[in-house]
Amino acid sequence: MLIGGAVAAVGGGGLLAREELERLWWKVPGMAKPRKEGELDHAGAEWTAASTANWRLADRPDDFEIDRVIIHVVQGSYPTALRVFKNPGHGAATHYVVRKDGHVAQMIRELDVAFHAGNRSFNERSIGIEHEGFVDRPQDFTDAMYKGSARLTADICVRHGLPVDREHIIGHVEVPGTDHTDPGPHWDWDRYLKLVRAAMPSARRAAE
Ligand SMILES: [Zn+2]
Repeated sequence: MLIGGAVAAVGGGGLLAREELERLWWKVPGMAKPRKEGELDHAGAEWTAASTANWRLADRPDDFEIDRVIIHVVQGSYPTALRVFKNPGHGAATHYVVRKDGHVAQMIRELDVAFHAGNRSFNERSIGIEHEGFVDRPQDFTDAMYKGSARLTADICVRHGLPVDREHIIGHVEVPGTDHTDPGPHWDWDRYLKLVRAAMPSARRAAE
């Protein structure tokens, strides 16, 4: 859900100061990977930047290992998700947003930490994917959206060496401490994992 990271953002000055100190350790010259505006991690995605207030500069996987994908449902439309993730006051955003027709927007680089899980360590170790629609409207979860999302997750699994299973591909609802329910009971995990597995060979070929 859209406000996933807002809880984490209310951490207070103490937490932020500690995060800043820990980040300084990594600001050793030569540690930061070169990056350029608009650069994509997932081929075929459209780059549209989230506000820099909704994520934090990092150097993954060198500073934090990426070990899972977290699946969200927007509780709103694709344009709404893009609009709020561009709003610096929102305090949250995911790396990717998938539209009902399967189109994928990338808003944050995978090497950076997006505020989407409402849990600091899960933000640091994960890549977040939002899906257009509402948890109580199964008709929102279209074939095209499942397939576009599965191609994206397969690509992430190949590039970061993640097994395709429910330990490494989880819902926001499974993040410790969360009060979020997305992606909800209508998200078809069996179907989704089958689609991700089916997309693995072409993701491997693309990564070669
Ligand atoms: Zn969520």
